[in-house]
Amino acid sequence: MKKAILRRFFCVLILALVISSGVSYYIMSKQILKDNIRHLSNMIYVMDYYININEDFQSQVDDLKRLVSQTDSIRITIISPTGVVYADTETDKVSGMENHLEREEIQAAIRGEIGYSARTSETFGTKMLYVAGMSHTGEGEDYIIRVAIPYTGFQEYMATIFPVLGIGFLVAMIASTIMGLRFTETITSPLQEMSREMTKAGTSQFDFHFKHYKYPELNIISDTTVKLSKSMKEYLERVEKERKIRQEFFSNASHELKTPITAIKGYAELLEQGFVTDEDTKKKFIRRIRKSADNMTVLINDILMISQLETKEANVTFSMVRMAPLVEEILESVEPLADSYQVALHSECEPITIEASTKQLRELLVNLISNGIKYNHPEGNVWIQVSRNTTDLLIKITDDGMGIPTEDQSRIFERFYRVDKGRSRTLGGTGLGLSIVKHIIEFYEGTINLESKLGQGSCFTITIPMERKPEEIERNKANS
Ligand code: ADP
Repeated sequence: MKKAILRRFFCVLILALVISSGVSYYIMSKQILKDNIRHLSNMIYVMDYYININEDFQSQVDDLKRLVSQTDSIRITIISPTGVVYADTETDKVSGMENHLEREEIQAAIRGEIGYSARTSETFGTKMLYVAGMSHTGEGEDYIIRVAIPYTGFQEYMATIFPVLGIGFLVAMIASTIMGLRFTETITSPLQEMSREMTKAGTSQFDFHFKHYKYPELNIISDTTVKLSKSMKEYLERVEKERKIRQEFFSNASHELKTPITAIKGYAELLEQGFVTDEDTKKKFIRRIRKSADNMTVLINDILMISQLETKEANVTFSMVRMAPLVEEILESVEPLADSYQVALHSECEPITIEASTKQLRELLVNLISNGIKYNHPEGNVWIQVSRNTTDLLIKITDDGMGIPTEDQSRIFERFYRVDKGRSRTLGGTGLGLSIVKHIIEFYEGTINLESKLGQGSCFTITIPMERKPEEIERNKANS
């Protein structure tokens, strides 16, 4: 990366130097040419004033050359408007010179302009700048005065400019190398630091600490890494928590299964040993074996249901459920239980239809109503109220039973949590009923609220949104 940045630095520098030198060369060449033309045209005006048409041109131009330059570097020529050379400081035999009419500067002079041309002289073979202007004598005959000087343009200054340019270039190179190195350092060293920090922290820790860097882009990287590491940490913690919960669930479930299995085994062994001869006792033992097997079935069904709800794999079939007939049917099914506990059931149900799973709604109602019956006393009551508001279905299950102690109220929805373990077991409870209820309500994104007073009774209030969200419908379609 360092090398790549430096290479690009140099490329940009060289490009900048080449472009600026090129542009300067072009502008300065133009300026030098312009200055020389101005200078020579001024000279032509003065000469025009000096030259007398009635005297010998050749001697006049020779005099003029001596006057303006001691170094022989100037050439003065007098030419007729037809291109015939009258006099020239560089030759005595003008008659032998070719016609100059086609020369660029002469053509311009004939047009009345100050003409110029920079080209290699046929006479000297060196590069010259020619400037020509027409003299209007006012005495009948015009002539052209042409002045030429050796001219190499900007090249003349090259020798002096080159060393300065070279030094400038060298200084720029050194400065850009230092700057480039420093710049790459400011980028690469934070990156190296970050990578060191990440390796130091290890893969399982995700506890990174980065400095605040000069460039915001680097801070974005470090901030994102910190954020990512935090969410990774949270994710791992969540996975670990879920693992613990699952483990706890399995150990609880096996513990719960042990009770009926031990009972079945115990009664079966007693019967096998043949010590029980009394027919009534035999029947009692067999009834207990069957009861324990029933308890196991209920427990296994509850475990299956809860694990399906948790993994969202429940095979849910949605339909338009009419609440009143459903409540009626449930009341009929729990009537024997209510009779055995001498608890009266009361229901009040508005004619409501909701798009939901009948199986889940039945499970929810049966669990809450049978709890109201089981944790009650003879002559107790359970009230079932089904109504709706603008958005939600409202279900209220109230009982005047034993109530739930305040400290247990927040925990009764936990799996296998029972207020009175012994009582719940004897009543055939699994400790999973309310946990299933809570999962079903979560499935519908509803709420459950509990109000209870020990010795006075409990009231569970449930809300379930009437409108299903599109993604929920999609999910259910996929499941069914
Ligand atoms: P269980 O199978 O034991 O009934 P639940 O999850 O349905 O399991 O209930 C958990 C515990 O909450 C019960 O063991 C009981 O102690 C208490 N509970 C639930 N509903 C009521 C209620 N209506 N009145 C009093 N206690 C209740």
